[in-house]
Amino acid sequence: MHHDEPAWTPPPREKGAPQPPAQLSRILRLFRPYRGRLAVVGLLVGASSLVSVASPFLLREILDVAIPQQRTGLLSLLALGMIATAVLTSVFNVLQTLISTTVGQRVMHDLRTGVYAKLQRMPLAFFTRTRTGEVQSRIANDIGGMQATVTSTATSLVSNLTSVVATLVAMLALDWRLTIVSLVLLPLFVWISRRVGRERKTIATRRQRQMAAMSAMVTESLSVSGILLGRTMGRADSLTRVFADESDRLADLEVRANMAGRWRMSVIGIVMAAIPALLYWTAGLLLQLGGPAFSIGTLVAFVTLQQGLLRPTVSLLNTGVQIQTSLALFQRIFEYLDLPVDITEPARPVRLARARGEVRFEDVSFSYDPAAGSPTLSGIDLTVPAGGSLAVVGPTGSGKSTLSYLVPRLYDVTSGRVTIDGIDVRDLDFDSLARAVGVVSQETYLFHASVADNLRFARPGATDAELEAAARAAQIHDHIASLPQGYDTLVGERGYRFSGGEKQRLAIARTILRDPPVLILDEATSALDTRTEQAVQRAIDALSSGRTTLTIAHRLSTIRDADQILVLDGGRIAERGTHEELLARDGRYAALLRRDAVLPAAPEPAAPEPGATEPASA
Ligand code: ADP
Repeated sequence: MHHDEPAWTPPPREKGAPQPPAQLSRILRLFRPYRGRLAVVGLLVGASSLVSVASPFLLREILDVAIPQQRTGLLSLLALGMIATAVLTSVFNVLQTLISTTVGQRVMHDLRTGVYAKLQRMPLAFFTRTRTGEVQSRIANDIGGMQATVTSTATSLVSNLTSVVATLVAMLALDWRLTIVSLVLLPLFVWISRRVGRERKTIATRRQRQMAAMSAMVTESLSVSGILLGRTMGRADSLTRVFADESDRLADLEVRANMAGRWRMSVIGIVMAAIPALLYWTAGLLLQLGGPAFSIGTLVAFVTLQQGLLRPTVSLLNTGVQIQTSLALFQRIFEYLDLPVDITEPARPVRLARARGEVRFEDVSFSYDPAAGSPTLSGIDLTVPAGGSLAVVGPTGSGKSTLSYLVPRLYDVTSGRVTIDGIDVRDLDFDSLARAVGVVSQETYLFHASVADNLRFARPGATDAELEAAARAAQIHDHIASLPQGYDTLVGERGYRFSGGEKQRLAIARTILRDPPVLILDEATSALDTRTEQAVQRAIDALSSGRTTLTIAHRLSTIRDADQILVLDGGRIAERGTHEELLARDGRYAALLRRDAVLPAAPEPAAPEPGATEPASA
């Protein structure tokens, strides 16, 4: 197994690489399932704009007719009308907000789930290449960042656009000359806001990258193994300094993201607010010059309308800016959704109810990186009959683990094929394959949940009795039972309450619960003390009986009993045969045996593990 050691190099500075524009049509497609509800939102918005535009006309009637002519009845009616429009507008707005927020949240939910599902299907290679925190950040920060935009932008776009259009129509109806005066500056505003939008989009991209980098660093360095490494290497302070630098950079970007174009946008607001003065001045001047006169009612109604135009126009321009910002976020999410998945189910997969368990490699070659030099594995031919056992030995780096990855399709062969019961594993449906092949690797992953939950992850329906039986067979029941809370004991982050040997036996218990016909065993390299080793060995014996087993062997006992032994060297099969045959041949295998009585238990640098010296518990 290859754990990526936390590197904690400061993340690479972003290069400001030009990104392809997120297609607007693709974003719109996300909203398509909700078009019915969006249409209702449109109607509500239209209705509320019409109603609110009616108000200035009522005002004009009050000023020009009802008050001068002292018509009390009409006056009361018009005043009531103005109140009614205010009430109606508010009701429409609340309804509209409710529906549009719901739609926005559904879209966010679809995106989040889509990204998660996509990541679940990504090949292992993706995760060996990507920093964990980076993935988290895309789901939390990027989708979270879009939230505000998606829920509010679409509706504010519609509502502001409708208000602006309706107001403009009303203004034209009142007086076209005053309308022109109030609109002369509009093109300038649009131009300013587009520039600001582009600037914010660029900063947004950089900010999201910075957040991802920070989140990656936190995930790596504040995990249990990260803390262990940092402490034991005395790097805690320097890590804090690296973090401080990253955080500082983020703070700076946040300020810039918030301030980008603020001045320019507020200039627009100020100018818009100053336009009424311009209108009164124009009207007065036209009157003095003997030009067309306006009734006071018309003038006041017009200015009211024009001021009503201020808010929607400014927010429309802001919305444009916001859309550009969120385009950057959409872009990052789409990148994930567009990642190629190279390990896929065929269109018409073969289902296997229960495999017999014959495993065969036919002229298999494999490269982690086909572009790089010599392949990791080449010319591998082997057959393990159903129920048979094969042990793979060889020096570190000879490709033993890689060989074992090809059966459960953690990676796909580069050429040749791997079959189970004569069926290419690439033709099987994922479910059948997962049921057929069980893997016990050196690295046992335990969730932050109870022991029982961790075991049940292998088979959700398992009864308590089944859990216990599996744990007994795996030689771990007594230890679990001796814990104060037994099977309800909470396993810490990644199982740090358990020693290496115990975790291994938990993994074996899980696999016993799954009951797969084919078993891949990657034995621990870390030397276990004799009693633990015996316990683990008994657990493995219980697990492997009656199953096809492919063991990456580090212990003499496993190898001696195997039906077949394969010696790998540099990705090729160097020797094969039974223990006796290979001893008689006196080749590589015999040499390996002689070199260290216990086969290459040459301790690989394992992560320091607390409680590695195991109490004899079984
Ligand atoms: P063994 O299990 O015999 O120690 P492995 O199968 O783990 O050997 O590794 C075989 C070779 O493949 C090694 O040279 C190793 O560096 C390389 N390798 C292993 N995993 C990866 C990976 N994810 N990406 C690239 N190369 C890898």
